[in-house]
This record gives sequence, structure tokens and C-alpha cells, in this order.
Amino acid sequence: MRESTVVAGGSKDKQVSFAWMAWLAVGRKKTVLIDTGFALEDVAKKWGLRRFEPVPKLLGATGIQPRDITDIVLTHLHWDHCGNLSPYTRATVYVQRQELDFARKLTKKAKAKGGYRRSDLSTIDKLAKKNRLKILNGDQQMLPGIKGYIGGRHTAGIQWIEISTESAVGSVILASDNAYVHENIKTLRSTGSTGSPTSDVLQFKKMLSLVKQDKFVIPGHAPSVTAFPRVADNVYEIR
Ligand SMILES: [Zn+2]
Repeated sequence: MRESTVVAGGSKDKQVSFAWMAWLAVGRKKTVLIDTGFALEDVAKKWGLRRFEPVPKLLGATGIQPRDITDIVLTHLHWDHCGNLSPYTRATVYVQRQELDFARKLTKKAKAKGGYRRSDLSTIDKLAKKNRLKILNGDQQMLPGIKGYIGGRHTAGIQWIEISTESAVGSVILASDNAYVHENIKTLRSTGSTGSPTSDVLQFKKMLSLVKQDKFVIPGHAPSVTAFPRVADNVYEIR
């Protein structure tokens, strides 16, 4: 990815590495997936992803099957965060109202240009009909230990997620695409593609105020997650 897209003020000529991911939070009663990634191998090829594996396969490596997922929290509705929802046949899905309303209103062309896929949105509409969609209205505790906060301006209604753990780590923040890489958080420089750098940086400060160490703010595409302990191929434990 171009450095100028990843970090504001970065070089247009320099390429930096970028990772695609989803997150799993395991509680006593709930097994929660935060974002679902995507299943499009052709797209993975287009973006030059090495070692692409869809999320259900990565879950399998940890002994969890899609039907074990009780809840899915979507940070936003871009194709690389809310694709491949259908294997999770039991899960209730959470999304922010302002993100869903924005995505639904886009024309076909604007959807494609803005990173939204019609097929993902129609899957979400089907979930609503089955009463498996919960719509959030701003900052909200949605599950025990899991709180969503409306983020900056990556999309109209992106949320970032605070996971309160019982371990010494304390809170883990899943920043999603409010930040792409750790450098955004560490140097308080927004991504190069946000609609409002100032509002994103304000969110970074809020995120940092909730964690014990800045490494526990996890950006949406940070290759640095590989510094956490590896539990299986392409799976890392945040601790
Ligand atoms: Zn993304």
C-alpha cells in the first residue's frame, strides 16, 4: 500500500506493508467475532495478499467453528470487514445505525467506489428479516465487556471497540480502520484516506486513555500484530 494512503504526510512513491484481519473475543458465555474479513480469493490476488486465508479457516485453527460464534460486531461495512457473513448461522450481528443508513443510501456506483459491496448489504438485510441484526445508536455497551464508540471519519459511522479483559492487560481497543497501522496511533497522525484527520486524532487520544500500553490499541491493517504470541498459522493472541 502507498505510504501516503496509510499515514498522512507519507510518501506517494514508497510502498509499506498492510495486513488484513478480523478479531475474536472469547468470554465465559459468548464467543464474539469482531469483523468477518472477506472470502474473495480473486480480490486477495488483486491486492497482492500473501498467505490469504478466509476467517472461518483461521477460526478452525483455534478449534472454533463458525457455528460457535454467538455474536458478530461489525466495525464498519467496507468489503474487507463485513464480507463472508453467511457461515455464522447462529450469530447476532451488531452494526451502527449511521453506518448502515449511509451505506444503504449510496447509489450502485458510489457503493463500489466507496468500498461497499451490494451483496454484503443484502446479506445484512436478510439478517434483519430474521431478527439477527442489532442496530446500535452511537457509543454503546453491546455485550458484557464489549463497548462500541463512534469513531472518526474513515466512513460515516465507523465504530471502534473496547474489549475489557479480566487479564492484567486490562482493556484492548480494536481501532479498526480509524487507524491502519501502529504509526498512526503512536505519532498521532491519521491515515491518509480519512475524511477528517482532526476527528481521527481526537479518537486516537481517547483510545490511548483507555489502555495501559499503546500496543493494546490495535489498528485495522497493522502488520505489527505479528509481534504478539502466535497461536496458529496467521493467528495471534493479543496479550
Ligand atoms: Zn479495512
